Amino acid sequence: MASGEFAIPVYDILDELGGDQDINALNTVIDSLIHNMTGREVEQWAERFRRVHELHVLSCHECGRAMSEEECGDESTEERVCDECAGL
Ligand SMILES: [Zn+2]
Repeated sequence: MASGEFAIPVYDILDELGGDQDINALNTVIDSLIHNMTGREVEQWAERFRRVHELHVLSCHECGRAMSEEECGDESTEERVCDECAGL
């Protein structure tokens, strides 16, 4: 995981593009980072981010794995299970 000094090149590029107050610079950097991540990396990052920032986290009633909004559908039942546990 890149943090501290390893993240500096990202901030340097952001500064060169206009800094963190520039929405276009932010979008350009975020788009590029996403394009350079695998689907699995994005998924893991999103799970971690939701946990750290205490965002809406939905977990499987069976295995406890965090589920995507898509996987859960609109229902908000206590006994929601992931696609894998549901045998889908
Ligand atoms: Zn499960």
